[in-house]
Amino acid sequence: MLQEQEAHAAEMERTFIAIKPDGVQRGLIAEIISRFERKGFKLVAIKLVVPSKEFAQKHYHDLKERPFFNGLCEFLSSGPVLAMVWEGEGVIKYGRKLIGATDPQKSEPGTIRGDLAVVVGRNIIHGSDGPETAKDEINLWFKPQELVTYTSNAEKWVYGDN
Ligand code: UDP
Ligand code: MG
Repeated sequence: MLQEQEAHAAEMERTFIAIKPDGVQRGLIAEIISRFERKGFKLVAIKLVVPSKEFAQKHYHDLKERPFFNGLCEFLSSGPVLAMVWEGEGVIKYGRKLIGATDPQKSEPGTIRGDLAVVVGRNIIHGSDGPETAKDEINLWFKPQELVTYTSNAEKWVYGDN
């Protein structure tokens, strides 16, 4: 039993998910959280913040050479962003699947962007694209003490215990 729990813990991942100002203003917070929650992922940190433009530039530093970088950073800092950390097996990759393709015109129906957004510049949600960026983004947006470690009652039903 202990070994199984340890193996299970070793497979746990955390990812950074943010509902951008358009998703917050459009009243999509509950809809989006509920998709991650119903899947079986666990919320371990959450806060509503208005990032500064400098902070947005740090968050999107990988894209600083792209033509849309300035507008993107202005937009991200234009209003409240709901910053979250979600935990679960495979949550980084599967979180991206739940979110859908960057351009909502190409996102599949059933995904968050496919169902709820129309254009790439207003695609309502951000999700880390890999283990390294997940770690960096969690550290950028949250202090260690803002991450809550707890056992969810649902865990044994989501993952099984034998
Ligand atoms: N973006 C944009 N125009 C583009 C490509 C991207 O406005 O042609 C924005 C879009 O909001 C996207 C963000 O830049 O979500 C970050 O781009 P990235 O390629 O990292 O996409 P994501 O990881 O968000 O799917
Ligand atoms: Mg990205």
